[in-house]
Amino acid sequence: METLTESTSRMVHLSCSNCGSTHSAHTKQTFSPCCQLPLAAQYDLQTPFPKEVLAKRAATMWRYRELLPVQHEENIVSLGEGFTPILALQNLARKYNLSNLLLKDEGQNPTGSFKARGLSMAISMAKELGAEGCIVPTAGNAGVAMAAYCAKAGMKAVVVMPRHTPEAFREECYWYGAEVVLVDGLINDCAAKAKELNAAGNLLDVSTLKEPYRLEGKKTMGYELAEQLNWQLPDVILYPAGGGTGLIGIWKAFKELQELGWLEEDVKLPRMVAVQAANCQPLVATYLGHQANAQQYVGKPTIANGLAVPRPIGEQMMLQVLRESGGTAVSITEEDMLHGLRELGSHEGLFVAPEGAAVWMAARQLLSTGVLAPQETILLLNTGSGQKYMSNIAGQAKA
Ligand SMILES: *Cc1c(COP(=O)(O)O)cnc(C)c1O
Ligand SMILES: [Zn+2]
Repeated sequence: METLTESTSRMVHLSCSNCGSTHSAHTKQTFSPCCQLPLAAQYDLQTPFPKEVLAKRAATMWRYRELLPVQHEENIVSLGEGFTPILALQNLARKYNLSNLLLKDEGQNPTGSFKARGLSMAISMAKELGAEGCIVPTAGNAGVAMAAYCAKAGMKAVVVMPRHTPEAFREECYWYGAEVVLVDGLINDCAAKAKELNAAGNLLDVSTLKEPYRLEGKKTMGYELAEQLNWQLPDVILYPAGGGTGLIGIWKAFKELQELGWLEEDVKLPRMVAVQAANCQPLVATYLGHQANAQQYVGKPTIANGLAVPRPIGEQMMLQVLRESGGTAVSITEEDMLHGLRELGSHEGLFVAPEGAAVWMAARQLLSTGVLAPQETILLLNTGSGQKYMSNIAGQAKA
């Protein structure tokens, strides 16, 4: 008989993000059967666990394995994701008189975006729970990441993306051996198509927050921020929110670290800022009271493809993070994103995704309105590399 490694995970169950009822973590789960809303993994955080164990571990997100859902190490599907650098942006700080401007560069992950974290986790869990293949509606990066991790796991992959997605995303999926389906519309239209394609239910649907584990991958950004900043935290974190897994995940991580006692009691949690595209800003619209919720929101495409999520299932969870942290939500125009791209490139040598450029422009906007102060420690989350977006931003250099 095959013997499995001893489980190190401290996960105890999944809980409904809306009503708190608990659900088994040992069977395939999607969203909560009680409220049709996201499930979140819960851990034993009471049994003492010294953070000193981290020191000798590899520089990937799997260094936090006790606080992650995978039970048996042989199920981990890894391409080396996580532990991305935090860069000090001294040149822009000098230009704008800022004391401490930092950028966590998630563009350095496998497949060029932070989606690697979520999909490494989701595909590892799919393997552990015995899935034969996976399907995902995507704005681009999630599909590429899923295709890569499915290839590594020896699983079938079906990626459903908008027809207008830059070709680089589609092509990369092909090289990973995935099946790509193109749809006229945005990610919500792709979600409907994925549901139809998977009517028989043979594939595991790993849509954002419609399975519990991409969130667990993304939360490792929060652990890393704390560990890399020597268990201190920035005053404010700006995050480009589409479906919101990163925003919700980072906040979940901070709460878990507090409960574990890994953060001193005087460490204040950051204000969390959700940054969206002016072309598709459902969260901003709800936050400002322009609508009761985003369930009927209609968005337009944006060069920041990852932000074109008109009706996020995690909307209430995102709003909760903004409220609890004392943060806010802002939107950035296409033109400003291009400006931010050029500024980060020409001052800091960084070629970021338009989503990351939006985050920098949001910091500038909030500094000018006094919501952020120049002496605060400001952390920008750049979620991806600019490389695959070339066809979105081409032609600018000719002028
Ligand atoms: C997916 C994506 C986002 C949005 O992430 P969510 O977890 O859906 O909020 C932001 N930036 C990039 C580059 C992305 O690929
Ligand atoms: Zn519920």
